[in-house]
Amino acid sequence: MSQVVAIRGPKAPLHRGGAIDLREMSRTELSAFLTRKLGMPRFRGDQIFSWLHKHRARDLQAMTNIKASDREKLAQATSLGHLTVDQVHRAKDGTRKFRLLTAEGFALESVLIPNDDRGYTQCISSQVGCALTCAFCATQTLGFSRNLATWEIVDQVYQAQDLLAAEAEKTGQKWPERVQNLVFMGMGEPLHNYNQVKRAVEVLTDDMGADFAGRRITISSAGLVPAIARFGREGLGNEVGLAISLNATTDKVRDVVMPINTRWNIATLLKTVAEVPLHRRRWVTFEYVLLAGVNDSDDDARRLHQLVAKMRCQINVIPFNPHPQAPFKRPSKTRVKRFTDLCRKLGLRAFVRTPRGDDIDAACGQLALKGGPKPGSLPGSLPVVS
Ligand code: SF4
Repeated sequence: MSQVVAIRGPKAPLHRGGAIDLREMSRTELSAFLTRKLGMPRFRGDQIFSWLHKHRARDLQAMTNIKASDREKLAQATSLGHLTVDQVHRAKDGTRKFRLLTAEGFALESVLIPNDDRGYTQCISSQVGCALTCAFCATQTLGFSRNLATWEIVDQVYQAQDLLAAEAEKTGQKWPERVQNLVFMGMGEPLHNYNQVKRAVEVLTDDMGADFAGRRITISSAGLVPAIARFGREGLGNEVGLAISLNATTDKVRDVVMPINTRWNIATLLKTVAEVPLHRRRWVTFEYVLLAGVNDSDDDARRLHQLVAKMRCQINVIPFNPHPQAPFKRPSKTRVKRFTDLCRKLGLRAFVRTPRGDDIDAACGQLALKGGPKPGSLPGSLPVVS
């Protein structure tokens, strides 16, 4: 039996005290804060929330229908931070990878992937680095610096929307392309930063703000069982999609590929996932990174079927994206096809996900700040590297 692997703790705390960031609160929390702490009328909460999340106001001066004395109170009691966009890399297939910096100089990445119909799916980070140690993933080599705050999670989306708006203006497009789908599959295990991720979803789906439909948001987990159970208990499965990064069909292999399995094995994970109440139109997605000679055999396909056949689910087969930090190889196209075909023949909904943005290390499992900035050397401009 494998030794139980520890989950790493953060190097830095999330909050360092000081004024609360205005985008750290849901609309309800913001209204309560403004009325109770600053003595403002109730409707101010909706107005300010709308400025922050619908109009993406970058400072208090932009809030022209808020009277000057209230703006002054806000300036005294709150802050309004923004991540610094350090670089935007553009891949041949149109994928863009953003490198963003927190106030103290931690770097994180967020990826915009073009959809077929002109919009984008954005892959969002929830932590700086990651507390888990999945063997195929470049992010885990960074260690775990800290959780991202709610405002740092939503700011990734707003920075992407601002970039698309700026591009549209530059090219004379009447309507900017849109971020249509959000997936919490960037750096970090989203459910390890549960409270911030949950609040970010609440903020992003608020119809007085960015107004994303819950069905267009997916949260992915590597198998943090207590948090998946909480996700189910709190009814999040009725609002957003759930993806589980499975990647093996035996505990022996999963213990190595995803050491979190030494704490919560496949049977425990799948039992917990099966108990999550889902919206009637929702399916659980199982991500399955296909590693040559490790988890890609016909027997693996058969075992995968036995494990998940009773669930309303689909399988995303992801051929491994090679990178120097992982000792795995991508299976041949023939093997990927055979594995997927066998899954289908057995009755599973299985789809091959072709890597996007792999020429700029933006594909699944490749986010590792390659060539990243040194803390403290923040450039002021926005270089776009093609
Ligand atoms: S795959 Fe996800 S959960 Fe696993 S180490 Fe990488 S970022 Fe963390």
